[in-house]
Amino acid sequence: MTIEADFVIIGSGSAGSAIAYRLSEDGRHKVIVIEAGGSDFGPFIQMPAALAWPMSMKRYNWGYLSEPEPNLNNRRITAPRGKVLGGSSSINGLVYVRGHAEDFNRWEALGASGWAYADVLPYFKRMETSHGGEEGWRGTDGPLHVQRGPVKNPLFHAFIQAGKQAGFEETADYNGSKQEGFGLMEQTIYKGRRWSAANAYLRPAMKRGNVEVVHGLAERIVIENGVAKGVEIRQGKALTTIRARREVIVSASSFNSPKLLMLSGIGPAAHLQAMGIPVIADRPGVGANLQDHMEFYFQQISTKPVSLYSWLPWFWQGVAGAQWLLSKGGLGASNQFEACAFLRSAPGLKQPDIQYHFLPVAISYDGKAAAKSHGFQVHVGYNLSKSRGNVTLRSPDPSADPVIRFNYMSHPEDWEKFRHCVRLTREIFGQKAFDAFRGPEIQPGEAVQSDDQIDAFLREHLESAYHPCGTCRMGRADDPMAVVDPECRVIGVEGLRVADSSIFPHVTYGNLNSPSIMTGEKAADHILGKAPLARSNQEPWTNPRAAVSDR
Ligand SMILES: Cc1cc2nc3c(=O)[nH]c(=O)nc-3n(C[C@H](O)[C@H](O)[C@H](O)COP(=O)(O)OP(=O)(O)OC[C@H]3O[C@@H](n4cnc5c(N)ncnc54)[C@H](O)[C@@H]3O)c2cc1C
Repeated sequence: MTIEADFVIIGSGSAGSAIAYRLSEDGRHKVIVIEAGGSDFGPFIQMPAALAWPMSMKRYNWGYLSEPEPNLNNRRITAPRGKVLGGSSSINGLVYVRGHAEDFNRWEALGASGWAYADVLPYFKRMETSHGGEEGWRGTDGPLHVQRGPVKNPLFHAFIQAGKQAGFEETADYNGSKQEGFGLMEQTIYKGRRWSAANAYLRPAMKRGNVEVVHGLAERIVIENGVAKGVEIRQGKALTTIRARREVIVSASSFNSPKLLMLSGIGPAAHLQAMGIPVIADRPGVGANLQDHMEFYFQQISTKPVSLYSWLPWFWQGVAGAQWLLSKGGLGASNQFEACAFLRSAPGLKQPDIQYHFLPVAISYDGKAAAKSHGFQVHVGYNLSKSRGNVTLRSPDPSADPVIRFNYMSHPEDWEKFRHCVRLTREIFGQKAFDAFRGPEIQPGEAVQSDDQIDAFLREHLESAYHPCGTCRMGRADDPMAVVDPECRVIGVEGLRVADSSIFPHVTYGNLNSPSIMTGEKAADHILGKAPLARSNQEPWTNPRAAVSDR
């Protein structure tokens, strides 16, 4: 039996779900979504506060590790990716950041014409229903609900106050006209549940009757005479081909999209030949240009018993879980990232480059290492690194993990900027607003002061912020390192597109779920041959002191 559809999408993640929703909207096309992972049912995924669980569970996470990173004491860095309905949007931290206007202007400058801020702003609006965002700048009737947390913990307010005391800006909506400054963080949560791409887009699309999800591992794109005709998938021992009457769309993430192209004969010719894979299109950019954000946790003891530490014992976690199950309310209904900041590391910069997530507890992201007292922390990182890595095949076997080399901290500027993050955070936590709460520094620790001491700390403690992208980069069709053109078409093969975080020409400054969904939204219009949404003429805020001050 041949399974066939007009459009076959590989991956039900942030971009894939949005594409399935838009391609099926008018009811004229049959869409099949191939997903290697399983169901997203249950509290580990659906309860926002459980966010540390799914990334630690093999059934929801591809579980990749980088190769030993030479600048980070040869540590292998965890590189999680969602393997479940909704992809990484089902296991992520639920933080919602569109990115800065300059991020998208940079995309256009790198050859992604039609993806400047003025072009993408209408898509960000189309996708959102914003609860509490700036009027005129935010969406009001899109599938993706975005909210702020209840902000009950006094530490959130102390953080924003401290930023103002240090002379930084405050912003009422960093996803609106003004990104720079301290403010309340936004979350993809709706009625107490994780609002993943599966909940926002895929489930409503599946109700239409013309969208079907097929579970299986896509092993290869079937290409006949230079035209993509379908996808070969493995379900247990069986191999099945799903035929595409019109197009195949790869939305398998920044690790698996380049892997799938290479397994299908699209990539750097010498590498494919070394793997024994016949070359269909020699595209050296496939797997190159890997970018990510790094961060470390700056942790401080709280002298007042106000942090979430009281809730960490199993008993109280059970109470919070039960409350959520009964009412979808209480602590379980927030990711606890409720305050944040977007700052420029130096005068003369056009956009912020340092990002803060504030958390009213001192704990590792995966929940495994918690300080043994009340505390608070920021996840802080320099987000515009010039370090570049790559993704290659380990073997021609589709079940093998790809080889991931980030080359983190390989640009000297990274060290300067991250040292600045340590010192800047001390300045912020040292403000009056924290006087009532500030105990000793847990990490880096007061003894870590000199450049050498800070570098040693960073080498041991920097982690990925889980924002890999750029490995099937979008650019001009005549750019030899571009993999897709600005309409997301794979250069050199007909009937094939890539649309997900892998096509970003450059990492955006904030978290990547929002721009990944936006990419899916816009790609869908290109696939359907629709005219793009009209460009916006709204001008974002710029700091009048930018040339002379970092604040
Ligand atoms: C632990 C974690 C925390 C994060 N926190 C945040 C956050 O708080 N805020 C934020 O904005 N961003 C966050 N991110 C990043 C963000 O979620 C991702 O950048 C974004 O979801 C990427 O979307 P995508 O469409 O490129 O890929 P994904 O959403 O990863 O989707 C790819 C899909 O393709 C499927 N797939 C892959 N290969 C195959 C194959 N061969 N066959 C079939 N199916 C396949 C996968 O199973 C997956 O469902 C986080 C990511 C992680 C992992």
